[in-house]
Amino acid sequence: MTFDDINISPKMKMRLEDAATSGKIFHAYIFEGSACVDKEKIALSFIKAMLCKEHRGRGCSDCLICKKIEHGNYEDLIDIRAIGDSIKDEAVENMQERLRNKPIGERNIAIIVNADMMTLRAQNRLLKTLEEPPAATVIILLSENAENLIATIRSRCIIYRFSSETPDESEGMLLLSQEIITMLAKGEPFYSLTSKLKVAMEDKASALEFLDAMEMRYGLILKENAASDYDMQQYIFNAIRAIEEARKNLHRNMGIGYALKCLILKIGG
Ligand SMILES: [Zn+2]
Repeated sequence: MTFDDINISPKMKMRLEDAATSGKIFHAYIFEGSACVDKEKIALSFIKAMLCKEHRGRGCSDCLICKKIEHGNYEDLIDIRAIGDSIKDEAVENMQERLRNKPIGERNIAIIVNADMMTLRAQNRLLKTLEEPPAATVIILLSENAENLIATIRSRCIIYRFSSETPDESEGMLLLSQEIITMLAKGEPFYSLTSKLKVAMEDKASALEFLDAMEMRYGLILKENAASDYDMQQYIFNAIRAIEEARKNLHRNMGIGYALKCLILKIGG
């Protein structure tokens, strides 16, 4: 099981993959989502992605580390869940105890399943670890509603919300790319194009998704017009080159707005 086997939006997938690949992993996360969302699976896939040596960023499911994570017997993985109807102070205390030991591999990782069920005492105890996390530690809290956690815990975690609906974000980008392509072809003014593009400029993942959608669209147009129109072909080749360049620029951490504006100028100009 990797990110490909779980139902999460391309945007979320990219965020988790980026973190795992770059190694820029925060010490605490809250994965929030309704009961229909298999947050445990998402967390395990993320852990594989950050620890797998065969395929960093994705996880391979075949190496020893991935297998152990999947079977719940990876040495550095601490699993905390409710006994009865709550997660008590002692459970968090045991976790703290284990986190004091150095990991055998790269990191100690704790998953708190149904973190909403932590008693207030347990939450206050956890807070201490979040305030001064031991080195090489990642704590992932799985929660149906992060509002059930005290604000001081929430403020020390990166919160990712997962929805159970079929991801429609990529569909949004497909529609947007179609609109932009039409606007470019009509030669509409730069400011209307850039204001339309605001959604794609929200973050890097959205921008990359938009570029994928653009490239796919142009690819389709190229196929449809393959033999007929030389000028059209050149126009599209030029556009695809500009998309590739924008993608490279984003990976080089150029400002998102700047990269997309350059793209529009190159295709439109
Ligand atoms: Zn692996």
